[in-house]
Amino acid sequence: MSDVDTRGRTHVVRNYVGGEWTTPDGDEHLISKNPATDEPIARVPFSSPTDVDAAVRRGAEAFESWSSRPVEERIQPLFRLKTLLETHQDDLAETLVEDHGKTLAEARGELRRGIENVEVACGIPSMSQSGTLLNAAPGIDESAVRKPLGVFTAITPFNFPGMIPLWFLPYAVATGNAFVLKPSEQDPLVPERLFELIDEAGFPDGVVQLVNGGPETVNALLDHDGVEGVSFVGSTPIAKHVYERAAASGKRVQAQGGAKNHIVVTETADLSFAAEKTVSSACACAGERCLANDVALVEASVYDAFVDRVVETAAEQTVGDGLDPETDVGALISADHEAAVREYIRTGIEEGAELLLDGRDVSVDGYENGNFLGPTVFGGVTAEMEIAREEVFGPVLGLAPVADVEAAIDRLNESRFGNAASLFTGRGADARRFRHDAAIGNLGVNVGTAAPMPFFHFGGWKESFFGDLHAQGEDMIDFYTDKAIYIERWPDQ
Ligand code: NAD
Repeated sequence: MSDVDTRGRTHVVRNYVGGEWTTPDGDEHLISKNPATDEPIARVPFSSPTDVDAAVRRGAEAFESWSSRPVEERIQPLFRLKTLLETHQDDLAETLVEDHGKTLAEARGELRRGIENVEVACGIPSMSQSGTLLNAAPGIDESAVRKPLGVFTAITPFNFPGMIPLWFLPYAVATGNAFVLKPSEQDPLVPERLFELIDEAGFPDGVVQLVNGGPETVNALLDHDGVEGVSFVGSTPIAKHVYERAAASGKRVQAQGGAKNHIVVTETADLSFAAEKTVSSACACAGERCLANDVALVEASVYDAFVDRVVETAAEQTVGDGLDPETDVGALISADHEAAVREYIRTGIEEGAELLLDGRDVSVDGYENGNFLGPTVFGGVTAEMEIAREEVFGPVLGLAPVADVEAAIDRLNESRFGNAASLFTGRGADARRFRHDAAIGNLGVNVGTAAPMPFFHFGGWKESFFGDLHAQGEDMIDFYTDKAIYIERWPDQ
């Protein structure tokens, strides 16, 4: 049994460095609370630059031998990790609910997607091969080879603490690198539990490390000479900061930022289906998803009918503790974040949007201190309004009529973000136009939330992404390796 089952008592979160559990020695800490009850569940001491240095050094030492191990050997701990994650999926999901606030079904789905990334990385022996050309020149054969680079780090957000670390870690180590994870300080328990399973999976000491902390910890990683590359997922201002600061010291960087995503509904769409998917896209995980579509642009001829269906569906959502199987919408991550979402709702009203469903006075029996907010729906949302432009990250949905698909695409292309969009239609020509003209990284047609499977890269354009190579899939192989050319001539003796 794990000693990190923290229910009912405060646990001090640990680092994992060189195969040992250690306590961070920074001056700061954060108390992580259960979002449904507001009860403290973990104390998160922050790692100092000295802690970061120790983790990177242990990674660099381990890299020396790990990078030259046969690739088949490097993926064996990943196969074991997949089995361990599946065996512990239920207890991991419960910890995730208690630390994050989402529902049990959402937590299980998140972990499944994380496990799929481990599965895909087990294919690295095939995925990381490069080309060879015999007789590239007279008597000469030429090959492209990939080589791992050293120590990589990933800095991850609060909203998917069980999945996002696995967008990176399995690919980094399977390609022969060492890895340091800096998870969100807001819900650190599942990453810590992941590292217990990683420890059990049997990676050589130093190949993978966990350092907990905040901005000072992140900046120490960004500045460290021993770090070759940085993956970041989080809000746009921090993504920009990470991209600039890590690039300034010559590192590879991929930095995924925030979002403002749209759904387009045409008059040929199945309106009931589109309404159901729109509500779930905006409100699942209490709206705390970078792929949440929270503005729906609806062809004017079906606007009223669509609004009715959306409001009806949104009003049926049950708000509550994520561990209750009846719950559709769980708690927001913190009281501060709940206050920020409430402020967006206030601004929406002030700017003249029509409040069609107000989730602000929701109450959950027995959970009076939880960070709950019910689905909130605005109509008549114009492009200038703050709730149409900024990432709200709560269960707040805006609706607006548009003349046609072209007008809708023009409007979503005006956003400074480019993470995701979905179209609901019965016409192939609309779908084709959307696919060609929408300047967005993840597009869905008759799909509520365009979340790519791990064998594809995770898209993201404009201010939703800084860098060249994306998370997941084959982009990860390019990110975690450099290519070299090998030219060979063997004259006859
Ligand atoms: P955040 O930017 O506040 O934090 C992300 C990470 O950055 C954390 O590990 C945090 O410790 C660190 N950090 C925070 N402030 C910092 C600072 N000043 N200097 C250095 N490091 C700092 O993001 P969050 O609130 O945890 O997550 C929500 C955001 O993440 C949303 O904007 C969401 O859209 C985005 N997100 C994007 C994607 C994507 O794929 N594009 C996926 C998930 C979440």
